[in-house]
Amino acid sequence: MRRFLGLFIILVFIFVIIIPTVIIEGTHLLESPVEVKSGENLVRVYLHRSDTIEIMPMEEYLVGVVAGEMPASFEMEALKAQAIAARTYTYKRIEEAKKEPNKDHPGADICTDPAHCQAWASDDVLRKRWGLMNFWRYKLKIREAVRATRGMVLTYKGELIDPVYHSNSGGRTESAAAVWGGNIPYLQSVPSPWDKSAPHYLTNHSFSLDELEQKLGIKLNTAVSSLPSAQNSLIKVKKKTATGRLKEVQIGDKIFDTVKLRQLLGLSSTNFTWQISGNKITFYTVGYGHGVGMSQYGANGMAKEGKKFNEILGHYYQGVKLRIIKN
Ligand SMILES: [Zn+2]
Repeated sequence: MRRFLGLFIILVFIFVIIIPTVIIEGTHLLESPVEVKSGENLVRVYLHRSDTIEIMPMEEYLVGVVAGEMPASFEMEALKAQAIAARTYTYKRIEEAKKEPNKDHPGADICTDPAHCQAWASDDVLRKRWGLMNFWRYKLKIREAVRATRGMVLTYKGELIDPVYHSNSGGRTESAAAVWGGNIPYLQSVPSPWDKSAPHYLTNHSFSLDELEQKLGIKLNTAVSSLPSAQNSLIKVKKKTATGRLKEVQIGDKIFDTVKLRQLLGLSSTNFTWQISGNKITFYTVGYGHGVGMSQYGANGMAKEGKKFNEILGHYYQGVKLRIIKN
């Protein structure tokens, strides 16, 4: 009996003390900050949740961005494409901050709010999101995507591009001109058939008609809405883009730009149809995101077909060149 007790104590010691220590030590190895060599490019990052500014080595910062912006399970070539897009975006923000400090975070080049600049995930967040074992695997994978493309950025006619991207275009990307106005030569509409097999290709959003009125600040003729013809009379399409997304719709007596409407209703995209049933309206959306620039699921689909990161980037950003910023 005593022998068993001794064995039990040894086992407890191994499982409770030794194994966690080894794992924690190992994690520390992975987290050890990249050594800042003289002349290495640094980026001033405003952490919007903690309201602090951290100065990070560019390439280390990008690991957190790629982890925050793209599923880590994606193909390596898609992650490399994302790393280059994120690096280009960051250098562009630095360039702009040098000319004129950013109004929202004057002491920093970029922030971690994806609605303002680009997402960035700390190791703590990633450990929770991925679990300890996947944290190891995914962090190494993303670090490899960043390392393999070190210093690479996208340019058009010698200038850094605005490398906008989205989750899923729904089958064809949209031109910048159609969404935001103003033609940008490298942000044109291109086919992206890979998106059709991705999650969130089709989603729906339902609201009661009262909710719709409230969210949009409008008054509907609800007597009309119960008639079968209400499908067409309640919402009228005023303008479509060349790819078939809705550009302007009239709801009640108000005309909405669909970019604004998408924001007000939290729709997945501006490519939608709708159905009214009783007091309920359901929007059926295709794709996820604004649809301009690189489709992330499209990038992953291309990578699965054996395409390299430069081919992916060349497809979604027409006519761009890869340059290397030495650091
Ligand atoms: Zn920002």
